[in-house]
Amino acid sequence: MIPSVLPTYNRAPLSFVKGEGSWLVEAGGRRMLDLGAGIAVNVLGHANPDLVQALTDQANAVWHVSNLYNIPQQQKLADLLVDNSFADTVFFTNSGTESCELAVKMARKYWFEKGQPEKTDIIAFDGAFHGRSAAGIAAAGTEKMIGGFGPVLGGFSQLPWGDLEALETAITETTGAILLEPVQGEGGIRPLPDADLKAIRALCDAKNVLLILDEVQCGVGRTGKLFAHEWAGITPDIMMVAKGIGGGFPLGAVLATQDAASGMVAGTHGSTYGGNPLACAVGAKVMEIVADEAFLGDVSRKAGALRQKLEGLVADHPEVFECVRGTGLMIGLKCKAPQMDVLQAAYDADVITIPAADSVIRLLPALNITDEDINEALARLDQAAKAVEANLQD
Ligand SMILES: *Cc1c(COP(=O)(O)O)cnc(C)c1O
Repeated sequence: MIPSVLPTYNRAPLSFVKGEGSWLVEAGGRRMLDLGAGIAVNVLGHANPDLVQALTDQANAVWHVSNLYNIPQQQKLADLLVDNSFADTVFFTNSGTESCELAVKMARKYWFEKGQPEKTDIIAFDGAFHGRSAAGIAAAGTEKMIGGFGPVLGGFSQLPWGDLEALETAITETTGAILLEPVQGEGGIRPLPDADLKAIRALCDAKNVLLILDEVQCGVGRTGKLFAHEWAGITPDIMMVAKGIGGGFPLGAVLATQDAASGMVAGTHGSTYGGNPLACAVGAKVMEIVADEAFLGDVSRKAGALRQKLEGLVADHPEVFECVRGTGLMIGLKCKAPQMDVLQAAYDADVITIPAADSVIRLLPALNITDEDINEALARLDQAAKAVEANLQD
């Protein structure tokens, strides 16, 4: 008989009743160090007092009114995002995949309104993940995601990740946008070099193509900048955000320049829940804390320390790990030993990591993880690696 929860996930047999900072607690009292943060979501850890306050204050005032009315919390968050990014305007969604839907619609509408309705094609990359909506799976284009779900939304193609030569030849008169994650997440923590992102921006300008960045996973402080593309000194035309922006409350956004958003006039898009008072009250508090130079500097400092320790871990366990890669607190440990064995050994050492493609386990800790918890993480990962080694010898 089918389980009452649709079984689309292979869930680990773990269940948590409480979260405290970078720790999750099971009913029996088992405490696990959470280096996954709900897939890069809980940027300020679990039960952050400032976020709890923002949420409960709003819960006691008004939960939901719909976008038929002005929502001051939404206005506040939009202003914070505009003040702290390339964007002139923001639309709020409830998830990354909804942000993908709007990003695609916005790009197509842009060229339609500019009198070039043929520019509907969107070029994406191998290893990409843009969500599970019709546009999201079409953009990724893998059999795993689209198999059986046809007809697939048209107009998407995929190139080898970071292949600039292939990109240059793939752009045609009908190309409307290039869509990419500055650091691929699900694809195995694969950062695009800054020089390549710069080159792609220049290519977009030269060939009259919009640049859509998917910063759903790498955005909101994760790399040590508020948004990952800032490292390359470029700006996109349209950007998808979600995951970290709500700190655990479901929230997403599409940020855009005035020009890129110019086709999206009243009636062209909408969402019942998107940008509701609860979500935006929390989101505004997240932004107030994360979009701060001192906070972001601290993310980079911790990331540097963690990275150095992980290089040591990899060197100590060459049979288990191949390398460490990533940017900031978006880190991948590429495994030589079977990836799921490493993940399980980490669970056994009471530490939570997240699998990704390319035999990578991801470390996506809360951005405010303490130095003490970083040291604890290393001790536990070392313990896990030793257990994997012992098994390899059996
Ligand atoms: C998680 C993710 C998405 C999809 O977000 P959902 O909130 O799960 O819909 C899209 N793009 C990237 C890069 C992601 O990591």
